[in-house]
Amino acid sequence: MNLALFIGMTSVMLFVTVVLPLQTGKGSGTRALALSEKEAESVADQEGFISHINSEGCHIYLATGESGWQASKQDFHDWVKASVQSIEAYYGSFPVPETRIRLYQTNGDTVEFGESTYDDDLAQGEIEVYVGRDTTRETLMSSWTLTHEMVHLTFPIVHKEDRWLAEGIATYVEPIARMRKGLVSRDAVWQELLEGLPQGVDNGRLGRMRGTKEWGSLYWGGALYCLLADLEIRQKTNNQMGLEDALSEIASSGGTAASFWSAEEALARGDKHLGQNILVPLFRQFQDETLSVDLEQLFNQLGVEETPSKQLTFNDRAPLARTREAILGRPRS
Ligand SMILES: [Zn+2]
Repeated sequence: MNLALFIGMTSVMLFVTVVLPLQTGKGSGTRALALSEKEAESVADQEGFISHINSEGCHIYLATGESGWQASKQDFHDWVKASVQSIEAYYGSFPVPETRIRLYQTNGDTVEFGESTYDDDLAQGEIEVYVGRDTTRETLMSSWTLTHEMVHLTFPIVHKEDRWLAEGIATYVEPIARMRKGLVSRDAVWQELLEGLPQGVDNGRLGRMRGTKEWGSLYWGGALYCLLADLEIRQKTNNQMGLEDALSEIASSGGTAASFWSAEEALARGDKHLGQNILVPLFRQFQDETLSVDLEQLFNQLGVEETPSKQLTFNDRAPLARTREAILGRPRS
């Protein structure tokens, strides 16, 4: 397919999440031994975590820190559980054996932003989320932030020159994962791409991505990489495989935040699983070339259209209509 195609957007979403590499570990990044249920509950009690979720042997703990929250413990628990289940819906399983989530209290009814990393010495994923004291259950359940941070744990913590790839994956996968969990509608996923992708493109051009620090290209240029990769995989496999197959394989074969894999090593693992050379060549193209992008043509081919009154409509006779539906797919069993 012609990759000289797509990008742009005007989302008001606040993407200020980052992956912070913790350079403390000298270990191999291998997985920690799974805790028994009893041991896991003991950890939760001792360390003051209010919520513990066991996702097929992967343990996720939540600490809310300060008191005075509007939301109840059950609300927080349900929020974390829904985020875990969103990850499971896309990847098949949660990526790392242990994860600690800590909340930091701010003002108002809002989930502000999050950060994620992996502590090699403690062998655990760490996520921090800044949440307003008055945040309601509805705000928690409609927030994308925690799922975005969890997606970061599914992929290596990459070199700073490649950060756009990690942010692109998190930006692209999060809404699809939450849709598969039933937290957002199918239309909302396309609405977000329609509004978000143009923010990565400047006058029909996507500049070299290597080392980019520019917000639009970091998140939406990276998301464009994912969408193009997804389309190419589905075209070359007659919709039998998609980006999720490559990303799930990377995570399940050890290329998570616990690993020391490079971005290219991870993508090569995905290509091997697909039996296609797609992810690595496209990555190199994004890294070092300036690309012409025609997002209008891309959305036309996908059959995603917006009326003058900003109403989203879908054209099932568009060339990529079937692929469009396949991208959203069904929850993995
Ligand atoms: Zn992020």
